[in-house]
Amino acid sequence: MAALTQQFQPSPTHTLRKRAAATATATATATATATATATTTTTHRRCVATLHVPQVPTSAAPLSSNVLRQTLDDPSLKSTWSHRAWVACGCTTIAFTLAKSMAMAAVSSSWLEPAGAGTLGYFVADLATGIYHWAIDNYGDASTPVFGSQIDAFQGHHKWPWTITRRQFANNLHALARATTITLLPLDLLPLDMGLEAFVSVCAGCIMFSQQFHAWAHTPKSRLSSIVIVLQDAGLLVSRSKHAAHHRTPYNNNYCIVSGVWNGALDEARFFEALEMVVFFRFGVRPRSWNEPGSDWKEEGDPDSSS
Ligand SMILES: [Zn+2]
Ligand SMILES: [Zn+2]
Repeated sequence: MAALTQQFQPSPTHTLRKRAAATATATATATATATATATTTTTHRRCVATLHVPQVPTSAAPLSSNVLRQTLDDPSLKSTWSHRAWVACGCTTIAFTLAKSMAMAAVSSSWLEPAGAGTLGYFVADLATGIYHWAIDNYGDASTPVFGSQIDAFQGHHKWPWTITRRQFANNLHALARATTITLLPLDLLPLDMGLEAFVSVCAGCIMFSQQFHAWAHTPKSRLSSIVIVLQDAGLLVSRSKHAAHHRTPYNNNYCIVSGVWNGALDEARFFEALEMVVFFRFGVRPRSWNEPGSDWKEEGDPDSSS
């Protein structure tokens, strides 16, 4: 699905990683020991990039609480008018596609077909986000054409998961909204079957908002609205507890981020492990999940986790 190719937009964590590197460099110049550590780390990063093993940040120079707090004012977390315009366009194309389906259903007095197709779209969207998330988590790096920034962003997300909860709404969704608009606009000009219109609109809508569902899965309950908590607890949106498993060792499961309904079946069937074997034997490329993060890797917590 074309919309998926830009599902996950570049993250401010890329900027954060640069800041972490800058902090490491500053620390390194302070003492000879720190210099040696930073040099070793830099060399190690170059090596792992060459060998296509995990590019995880190290804790050789952990971010201080102050540095983490400063990132909250990072302009890359804020929405721009361009972001808002793309989100408005995405919502409009989705609403228009859904309205076409509803209009046809009203004329024919047949609601079963669009209702069934829309439900199918909701389930397919969850599966699609899982496959795409697995792919960018495990293959390529920041230099990969088209997907490089998304791959780098998700590696950063694994290091600083909480930053997604501090991004403004349109900032979080604008890349998905752009992909949705570009994909749906041509379809809106075609006379499609009402079932297909319902499927496409719901599937695209769930994919476009999946980053918001993902952000809610990282947000403390105290900062969520009650309706979101109800939907998460009912399993209609990916829950905090289930998505948390994705951020724990062995870092190779729970990839779906709409409802997460596919996660149990896919992980039990070792679906992604099977795909990884196919990729390895066909192309000789190892996924990151086969190389567990080193003992020096540690997820940085939210400096304001009490809120
Ligand atoms: Zn991930
Ligand atoms: Zn996450």
